[in-house]
Amino acid sequence: KLYNQVQDLKGNIRVYCRVRPFLTGQASRFSTVDHIDEGNITIITPSKYGKEGRKSFSFNKVFGPLATQEEVFADTQPLIRSVLDGYNVCIFAYGQTGSGKTYTMTGPSELTEESLGVNYRALSDLFLLSDQRKEVIYYDISVQMLEIYNEQVRDLLATDGVNRRYPSWHYFLSLKQCLFFINPAYLSTWILNSFSATAMNDRSSRSHSCLTVHVQGRELTSGTVIRGSMHLVDLAGSERVDKSEVTGDRLKEAQHINKSLSALGDVIASLAQKNSHVPYRNSKLTQLLQDSLGGQAKTLMFVHMSPETDALGETISTLKFAERVA
Ligand code: ADP
Ligand code: MG
Repeated sequence: KLYNQVQDLKGNIRVYCRVRPFLTGQASRFSTVDHIDEGNITIITPSKYGKEGRKSFSFNKVFGPLATQEEVFADTQPLIRSVLDGYNVCIFAYGQTGSGKTYTMTGPSELTEESLGVNYRALSDLFLLSDQRKEVIYYDISVQMLEIYNEQVRDLLATDGVNRRYPSWHYFLSLKQCLFFINPAYLSTWILNSFSATAMNDRSSRSHSCLTVHVQGRELTSGTVIRGSMHLVDLAGSERVDKSEVTGDRLKEAQHINKSLSALGDVIASLAQKNSHVPYRNSKLTQLLQDSLGGQAKTLMFVHMSPETDALGETISTLKFAERVA
């Protein structure tokens, strides 16, 4: 085989935990993280959550607050590279709003080379690697970007006059061309919908956004065709909304989010347990990803947590969600 060796991923579902640092401007505060040791994280809890106020959770890997984007990507790269060998890969960012999902997937709002997130690095890697192989395999790379909001799909890359309900595919010959297209399109989506920065942030935390890349390679000598795909999903915030405090649209949104995140959890948990029935039909998100979850597909879930003590309730439910799918 001419393809790069794919690192043994020990099963098809992996879960990484990432703890974000305290934010600049926050006075140094008490962290709920007691310690991190390879794949284990120990949280300090009020005694009602466990004996002696400590509770440990195990993952394939835990990234502490000092982990860089580069380090996080280094553990993701083998998965991304396997897409060119014909695998379907899904990467999810899960966690409450403000815990660092978008930071992991995209980066901070002021992007620098070092702070680029998984999606830029993944795209860059796919283009680079496909270029390196071009004497042997010719790859077509196409990209789609959509959001799911209230169980409805909307194309984030649609140009004017195109029905956003039916996302389209965009073929790119180079990373440069791809990023050039994606960035202004992102911007125009914001401007066209005249969301203020805060309204947009608010909305993005209540929708799932998904960057999908399809690759189709043709081996030049044999004509063999290889198809692979990659879904990078920045999920809606997992925080539970107090039903007594919200009504109307806000309540409907919260119910949709709740339903789709638990549907995702159910699907991954039943794949992990190798159940014969996998409940894909229960949400738009799992329907959309049906062909890319399960079988030979590879799944990576990044669960994010905030270190603040006032986030503890959400942190524990996030870690419990993660433990269920791990
Ligand atoms: P989410 O998408 O989960 O709502 P964000 O990614 O927007 O959260 O992160 C919230 C804030 O924390 C942002 O200002 C972001 O830049 C910052 N942040 C998150 N993770 C990190 C990190 N690992 N290192 C530095 N800053 C981070
Ligand atoms: Mg976000």
